[in-house]
This record gives sequence, structure tokens and C-alpha cells, in this order.
Amino acid sequence: MADTQKTINCPACGKEMEKVFIPSQGINLDICTEGCGGIFFDNREFDSFDEKDEDISAIVEKLEGKKFTKQSENITRICPNCGAKMVKNHSSIHKTIEIDECYSCGGKFLDNDELVKIREEYDNNEQRDEDIMRYLYKEVGQELAAQEKAYSEIVPHRTYVRKLFYKLTGL
Ligand SMILES: [Zn+2]
Ligand SMILES: [Zn+2]
Repeated sequence: MADTQKTINCPACGKEMEKVFIPSQGINLDICTEGCGGIFFDNREFDSFDEKDEDISAIVEKLEGKKFTKQSENITRICPNCGAKMVKNHSSIHKTIEIDECYSCGGKFLDNDELVKIREEYDNNEQRDEDIMRYLYKEVGQELAAQEKAYSEIVPHRTYVRKLFYKLTGL
């Protein structure tokens, strides 16, 4: 994983982000400790923090007791890692939390508090997956039902066409 050592600037407020070593996961995170309290995760790093039983104490410690300036979330942010435009994405199908994702390098940026909120959504990734499956099943199920309906509307015509064919060919 790209655990870059280069200093980056916060995609939300522009302040230089602080490299914070997280011993439990053995990785460096970029945290906007002097600006907005946002966190930047390199590709896949986020997976190590989004479940409830994963340790984020080192992150919380860094952010604790600080006042952060709330940033507008409506502006397109630029990935501090690779310079590509980041895309607003919902963290789950509940669509309550929107995070910034970089499709180019896989980086993710979370505004202050978003990590805590995301972790509260599900107990673990199995639950998250189950929820997605339930949702997909519902969506796909409806689509199949719609196809079935469309098919039943075509069938009478097919019968008519077949009858006409028999009539014409004398079979
Ligand atoms: Zn910031
Ligand atoms: Zn990127």
C-alpha cells in the first residue's frame, strides 16, 4: 500500500497535514490537526479503521480537545496524494455520511467526526456486506419483477403472431 512519507496538504482546508503513526495498524495517517480535523487515508488504509473493534484511539487522541473549523463539503476536493478530483461518495447505502474518494489512487478523505459516525453504522464489515446484499436483492428483485411483467405483456402478441404464421403457412 502506498504509505507515503511526503507531506500533504489538507484537501478541505489547505493546511499541512500531520503524519500520525498508528501503532496498532502500523501505518501512517495524514491528519489535519491544525486545520479542520479531517483525515486522509491512503489506498486501503481506511479498511483498517472502519469497524467498531478496530483501534482508533491514536486518531482520537490526536483530535481530542481541539477546535476545528468546519469546511464546506460541497466543493470538489483535489486528492492531496495524486492531484485527481475527488468524488463524493456515501459510506453506506443509508446515505447519511458522505466521504471524498479518489478513484485514481484510492485515497479517502473524511471530515472531522465522519470516521466516528461511519463506525457507528455497523458493528463489522459482515453486517455492512449483509446490508448491501439485502439492498441489492431488493433492487435486482424489483427489476426481475418488472421484466416478468413486460414479458407477460408481449406474450399475447407472440401468440397472435404464431397463429397468424400457422394460418398463412397452413401448418
Ligand atoms: Zn483540513
Ligand atoms: Zn488520489
